Amino acid sequence: MIASKTINKIELDINNIRLDFPILSKKINGKQLIYFDNGSTAQKPKRVIKAIAEYYENQNSNIHRGVHSLSQEITVAYENARINVQKHLNAKHAHEIIFTKGTTDAINLVASIFGKNRISRGDEVLISAMEHHSNILPWQQICLEKGAVLKVIPINDDGELIMSEYKKLLTEKTKIVSVSHVSNTLGTINPVEEIIKLAHEKNIPVLIDGAQAIAHKSVDVTLMDCDFYCFSGHKLFGPTGIGVLYAKEALLNSLPPYQVGGGTIKTVTFEKTVFADLPFKFEAGTPHIEGAIGLAAAIDYVNAVGLNNITNYEEGLLAHASFELEKIEGVKIIGKAKHKASVISFIVEGLHTLDIGIILDQQGIAVRTGHHCTQPLMARFAIDGTVRVSFAFYNTKEEIDFFIKGLIKAIQMLK
Ligand code: PLP
Repeated sequence: MIASKTINKIELDINNIRLDFPILSKKINGKQLIYFDNGSTAQKPKRVIKAIAEYYENQNSNIHRGVHSLSQEITVAYENARINVQKHLNAKHAHEIIFTKGTTDAINLVASIFGKNRISRGDEVLISAMEHHSNILPWQQICLEKGAVLKVIPINDDGELIMSEYKKLLTEKTKIVSVSHVSNTLGTINPVEEIIKLAHEKNIPVLIDGAQAIAHKSVDVTLMDCDFYCFSGHKLFGPTGIGVLYAKEALLNSLPPYQVGGGTIKTVTFEKTVFADLPFKFEAGTPHIEGAIGLAAAIDYVNAVGLNNITNYEEGLLAHASFELEKIEGVKIIGKAKHKASVISFIVEGLHTLDIGIILDQQGIAVRTGHHCTQPLMARFAIDGTVRVSFAFYNTKEEIDFFIKGLIKAIQMLK
């Protein structure tokens, strides 16, 4: 399943890779499934499915609290999963990795604890015009609660952040910047290093929403120097219900717990609680143990394929699909940033995106339609929604060609 030969862009050993994903041989409406909805959730390789089955068949027990062998074994596996994530993100310490339910949960965690402690009336929180609702609402709500102001970095018509405006929006009132690494709707790869550097010049911490970046490129939080980074396991070929918040040790130590209860304490009396050290202070209750085990297996799988190979291969898919789409009369791609991940949004003049999605589904092609949880972004482009195709490394040029034919057919049927 490793890269075989090189043409233009890296060519992966796709046939073998595809065999690793059982669902890819499924038929939908009597047609071979073509899965282009990876931005919503990615498919799972056998390695992940087996790791979860193995957990329930052979390892099931609760972590951290048992002296018996099973509990100790699974505690080691759970903590090894944390170390796996730490290495994958190149974080300095394993205790800077907090397991969450996903990206949304991680951003809510930060908005809640950071917001309650560091944001006051008149302060500003800075996000961007291309954010997913999960990186808008937690900040909007904390701003409402605190009397703070939500400020928005504008984007240009290609779907890129206007950095000169960003610089102007960074003021002594800005308490935190929270932006996506990769836009789920436009595919834009944001210049996160520059965003962080500029914010840090004014001592402003930065959260990077990595939900859409994590499956497409290698992420180094130490090099990036972000203060918070989060992602969801299910978009990285792992299970649903597990995600990661990375945060710098000093920040985590300076903030109170998010939720409290079992697992978060050193000692409890009815009068007083002494909270546990990192990372346990932030992981209340029995966690998603098999989620962490499955996520670690997904990371191992992705590393075996090679993230650089994945990035290069997907660049080839993106270029091919963009080129073919632009040839179709009436198709307009929304989001033409210079740096893009393998996500393409488009509209077709005079047609409703939902109708296109339904006709493609009849041909076995899974795409996403609608606003993609980015309604303010839709408003920016004065559209209701788009059709979005988002590729993973198990997708092929042949699938794209089939999709293009399917789309032409859908357009002919609907016109
Ligand atoms: N942020 C971005 C950029 C996303 O694309 C998504 C999901 O699509 C999320 C946040 C929310 O992720 P989750 O639903 O896994 O919490």
